[in-house]
Amino acid sequence: ARQALLAAATGPGRTADGHLVPLLANVGGPKDLEAALANGAEGVGLYRTEFLFLDRAEPPGAEEQEAAYRAVLNAFPGGRVVVRTLDAGADKPLAFLPPPGEEPNPALGERGLRMFRVHQEVMSAQLGALARAAAGSRAKLQVMAPMVAGTTEAEWFVRACHEAGLHEAGIMIEIPAAALRAADLARVVDFFSIGTNDLAQYTFAADRQLASLASLQDPWQPALLDLVHLAATGARTQAKGCGVCGEAAADPVLACVLVGLGVTSLSMGAPALPAVRATLARHTREQCEVAATAARAAPTAQEARAAARAHLPGLS
Ligand code: PEP
Ligand code: MG
Repeated sequence: ARQALLAAATGPGRTADGHLVPLLANVGGPKDLEAALANGAEGVGLYRTEFLFLDRAEPPGAEEQEAAYRAVLNAFPGGRVVVRTLDAGADKPLAFLPPPGEEPNPALGERGLRMFRVHQEVMSAQLGALARAAAGSRAKLQVMAPMVAGTTEAEWFVRACHEAGLHEAGIMIEIPAAALRAADLARVVDFFSIGTNDLAQYTFAADRQLASLASLQDPWQPALLDLVHLAATGARTQAKGCGVCGEAAADPVLACVLVGLGVTSLSMGAPALPAVRATLARHTREQCEVAATAARAAPTAQEARAAARAHLPGLS
């Protein structure tokens, strides 16, 4: 029993019945890498490249980028590293990449992958540096684009990745349209990663930076759970993986529900990993599915949480 407890504390993410759910870390700077390793992350599920570009008048050079990407890949030999291309704009403004015109609603403006339509050279430089860093690395590199709205954008990004010599290209699901059309998108890309922070923002038309709207940002909202279910189901029709890398994955009870909705990996701020690992290990996949169905059937976020908890007997 002691050995089982120890395995649950440090081993790979799994449900009580042995269904594997890789538990990965969100990394937004070099310090986060240490925390990821210290908390037993199996890899990186969201490497936010913005930190390399912050507070500068010019983008970092090819060699600087390549070195940063090599560092994260080298930290997880044999593991998976999901790098997100630059997500500039709105809540992540970058001095050298201003939106091309006046924007009354920056969250609905030129941002994320859209920004690369006008600055293709920034995307090419980033993909090139990633491909060079991956050559000879023992980690499995997966590259994904933020803020993808549909198949035209997804196809464009996948083609750019392939042209750069990158083999695995995915997208974030953080716009409701992408979740609604997940089955189409799953034919085009290799994997999904759901960004629940932005997906909640756009689903409820509630700015994620406005504390007064926090209750509308609650990831337990049944409408958000419905969209997660749609995305995961769409991915499954094409045998593609569907992770979650938004804050929702860091809530141990919600993590069980996400697995019950069909999510195949969870990425979170590293300090949350031990609690999520332990809670998942105390519940079977079937219990997670029952809890997820109960949560989706509830009318409010509060009731969804209570319903899920009632169906997860191993909660302390
Ligand atoms: C998200 O939107 O949920 C996400 C993970 O990306 P970010 O928080 O960096 O926008
Ligand atoms: Mg986002």
